[in-house]
Amino acid sequence: MVEGIKLGCRCGQVSGRIAAHPHWQGNRLICYCKDCRAYLQHLERTDCLNEFGGTDIYQVPPAHVTILQGHAQLACLQMTRQGVYRWYTQCCNTPVGNCFSAFWPMVGVVHSFVLGSLDEQVGPSSGSVYCRDAQGRVPDELKGARSHKAMVLRLIAKLLAWKLCGKNTPSAFFVNGEPRVMPQQLASGTAVDND
Ligand SMILES: [Zn+2]
Ligand SMILES: [Zn+2]
Repeated sequence: MVEGIKLGCRCGQVSGRIAAHPHWQGNRLICYCKDCRAYLQHLERTDCLNEFGGTDIYQVPPAHVTILQGHAQLACLQMTRQGVYRWYTQCCNTPVGNCFSAFWPMVGVVHSFVLGSLDEQVGPSSGSVYCRDAQGRVPDELKGARSHKAMVLRLIAKLLAWKLCGKNTPSAFFVNGEPRVMPQQLASGTAVDND
């Protein structure tokens, strides 16, 4: 069992929590994609990237994530028009988390919004994705045992299970299929080449 995880921005105005859940419910991974990196670069928070430009993320269903205070500080970015919804706090530019859409029941909570150590609270990362886009060659021990493909399949299995279990709502990020805050779209659709 993973105990409830406290969430908070660095200035303390926004706080939240991830509800206690069985260990297999969450998925910790490092994403090296350019889009995740561009999001942190835009927020001027490259200090949240690891030394190879990767983002440490803990994926959980939306129903497990609650914002307790500071709702008005939550803001949303999309690097491209149909892009991932990337949330942050406008009080202090703390990266909060990523959602594919209102339909898919997943929030990738960025480690910067987690109070305390993810290692201690949820254990080590289960693997990495988009290592080919990393800044430099990611050492195997940091990558983890699973391939990119295995990680993607693992996420798809979790998404389907969470969808079937109705874990999409309530959501701190979407209401009636719409984001709670209009996302700011960066660049006119040309932003990040993620191929
Ligand atoms: Zn803040
Ligand atoms: Zn990414």
